[in-house]
Amino acid sequence: MDKPATPNSFRTGPDEQGMFGIFGGRFVAETLMPLILDLERHWNEVKNDPDFKAELQNLSTHYAGRPSKLYFAEGLTRHLREVSSAKGLGGGAKVYFKREDLNHTGSHKINNCLGQILLAKRMGKKRIIAETGAGQHGVASATVAARFGFPCVVYMGATDVARQSPNVFRMKLLGAEVRPVTAGHGTLKDAMNEALRDWVTNVEDTYYLIGTAAGPHPYPELVRDFQSVIGSEARAQILEQEGRLPDTIIACVGGGSNAIGMFHPFLDDRQVRIIGIEAGGRGLDGIEHCASMNAGAPGVLHGNRTYLLQNADGQIMDGHSISAGLDYPGVGPEHSWLRDSGRVEYVPILDDEALEAFQLTTRVEGIIPALESAHAIAHAVKIVPAMDKDQIVIVNLSGRGDKDVHTVASMLGMEI
Ligand SMILES: *Cc1c(COP(=O)(O)O)cnc(C)c1O
Repeated sequence: MDKPATPNSFRTGPDEQGMFGIFGGRFVAETLMPLILDLERHWNEVKNDPDFKAELQNLSTHYAGRPSKLYFAEGLTRHLREVSSAKGLGGGAKVYFKREDLNHTGSHKINNCLGQILLAKRMGKKRIIAETGAGQHGVASATVAARFGFPCVVYMGATDVARQSPNVFRMKLLGAEVRPVTAGHGTLKDAMNEALRDWVTNVEDTYYLIGTAAGPHPYPELVRDFQSVIGSEARAQILEQEGRLPDTIIACVGGGSNAIGMFHPFLDDRQVRIIGIEAGGRGLDGIEHCASMNAGAPGVLHGNRTYLLQNADGQIMDGHSISAGLDYPGVGPEHSWLRDSGRVEYVPILDDEALEAFQLTTRVEGIIPALESAHAIAHAVKIVPAMDKDQIVIVNLSGRGDKDVHTVASMLGMEI
């Protein structure tokens, strides 16, 4: 495929049709179209409405705990400088963490859920549905539904229900109904299909709260805009703390919401290198990974065209990652466009590398990162020693790792 021409700005998309170049759009059943158009109309109304913004800002501050800190990771920086010296390089950039792990419910997901629940309220909806894989988005959705008094149904693959019982219980405590989905392999992709099906059959009263920057237009745009608070804050904070922009920013990519939220405010700062980290799982040679942009091909899933993991017949494959939040077989369409345009690099990190970064960060920083975020840290661990001491890297710490201790224990051959 020819590389598209470099645009004047990387921040203007999507176009009227919801396209980012050849990616995105709304490939949905005729019956869903009126709902999507209604959502788009309301979204266009609220996105520049000062009252809506003020209400979201107020909740972000007092309920979610924003702004999240931009933290100089001194322990990790020192460690990587030692590594650099040992290699005879004598460098090692300063590493900062954007602390989304400190938000209410423990990750960036609350940013999107607060925005969308306010949108649902504006639209006069009476019922919330959501899909979830590992349960993190299900918990965040059930949280805001409880806060605003909405009944909430969460679709979750039956396989995931079985392996994520603490999150299933959390959702139930929060008053949500968890509906196991047995179709397909009983994972996230199937849960998302089922949520879309529910939405069509409950046209009048239901709001579908999507968990990442994917799905039919306008979801990729609105989720990005709600998550862009991450990058906007980080950009202002680094200018305040260091008096200049970072050299490199890094975030992990599942569906791509924390990454696009971090990246978007920096896209037109051409001197900033931007790197998205995909789940390399057990390696890209086999099928046990979730690197749709490094090892997938464009296709249509969940209402948009994007890079997908698929076999030779175009069947969507289930991905694998040590971190449940990264094993979505697709990726938000804006990332596909940023990949092809060359503005953002996408790099895989293996399970083992993430596991090591998880342990290292815990030891030298006293911060237990989510396994998803540990993928982004692992890439910093690789590149920082070869950078100069006066350079700056910001890693988006998308969430905290308390949820992952059982996975980590079993990977390390221990029992809790
Ligand atoms: C869900 C999740 C992710 C992956 O989702 P994105 O939409 O790609 O951000 C990453 N990190 C954490 C902590 C998560 O909970």
